[in-house]
Amino acid sequence: MLQISQRINSLAASATLAMSQRSNELRAQGVDVINLSVGEPDFNTPEFIKDAAKLAIDRNFTFYSPVPGYLSLRQAICSNIEATEGVTYRPEQIVVSNGAKQALCNVILSTINPGDEVVIPTPAWVSYVEMVKLAEGVTVTVPATIEQDFKITPDQLRNAITPRTRMVLLCSPSNPTGSVYSRGELQGLVDVLKDYPDILILSDEIYRHINFTGSYSSLATFPEVADRVVVINGVSKAYAMTGWRIGFMAGPVAVAKACTKLQGQYSSGPSSIAQKAAEAAYSGPQDCVEEMRKAFERRRDLVVELASKIPGLKVNKPQGAFYLFPEVSSFFGKRCGDRVINNGADLAMYLLEEAHVATVDGAAFCLPGYIRLSYATSDDLIREAMARIARALAALV
Ligand code: PMP
Ligand code: GLU
Repeated sequence: MLQISQRINSLAASATLAMSQRSNELRAQGVDVINLSVGEPDFNTPEFIKDAAKLAIDRNFTFYSPVPGYLSLRQAICSNIEATEGVTYRPEQIVVSNGAKQALCNVILSTINPGDEVVIPTPAWVSYVEMVKLAEGVTVTVPATIEQDFKITPDQLRNAITPRTRMVLLCSPSNPTGSVYSRGELQGLVDVLKDYPDILILSDEIYRHINFTGSYSSLATFPEVADRVVVINGVSKAYAMTGWRIGFMAGPVAVAKACTKLQGQYSSGPSSIAQKAAEAAYSGPQDCVEEMRKAFERRRDLVVELASKIPGLKVNKPQGAFYLFPEVSSFFGKRCGDRVINNGADLAMYLLEEAHVATVDGAAFCLPGYIRLSYATSDDLIREAMARIARALAALV
């Protein structure tokens, strides 16, 4: 029998992508499924970005690019960060990869040794823990429930740190909760981290532009820790470019060099054409970003209003990204006919099969008792999905 490595056998498959695939399969069979599982903007990529990609082909940007990405793209990223965060980076501090996903994995594999601890506040996006596993690191989760708006406190962070901690991985606005740390809250965490100079701070800011609070602070803007912050971002969410696969890390040159070395051996620079499209995104007019942000804010209001009316769902008001993460444990132990709902996985499967709405079990984000809904879809589909969910939940006794 062919061997599959222990490394891969011990890896969980991505629950977000699996649920989305299941929903697409049902749709292919003719079932009218509303997919609130995978988190991706439903908007088309703006025209000026697509035009730049077409031009890139015509101008023969069809050869290998430098491993960390074209210099012109890295310069455009630096200018964009300077304009939005007021932080100055040099192009050698940037490595462009196949999505923020590869950028994150590059940083983790480049900095974590077997046995090193990585502190991850939970609920957290499905892939973090698995990436740490790939590096043979040890994840230390710090749980934050809906009662604390899914945000950890400085004391919780301090208690999670040990002499073996090498990284703290933060994500704000958060996937899966949409919670956003204020500058004051981040300062509280930074005040803890400044006492631990060996800890690298990996800040996943991929939802930075989908923020409804009116203000945003990148972790790179805190001088006490700025020299050991690695920021992750990309074009997937802000510019509706999930399929183009462009993300990047921005941080210390030593980490950028390590990521470049790794990427040079297993993937090379990302698609030349997608890089040229991303360059247009970062250097072109930015009104598309604000237009999409406004649409997500309106949908957030709608989904929160509708979900709050469903008996048994406990919801908060997410301040960013495009996710709602309701607490659903009041339905556990209930049944519909022969089907018993014992946990979030049962509930997500029930909603998929009976209500034809795809969601994701909170346990995939390390917080059982919840489910995740992505509301990056039209107002009409949000209304229809919430009505279906309400009916299906009401049928549980
Ligand atoms: N980080 C978070 C928190 C995400 O939700 C995603 C999207 N799945 C990513 C990173 C990866 O984004 P990309 O599409 O750029 O790989
Ligand atoms: N950000 C998305 C999600 O969480 C994309 C799917 C993935 O890569 O996990 O659903």
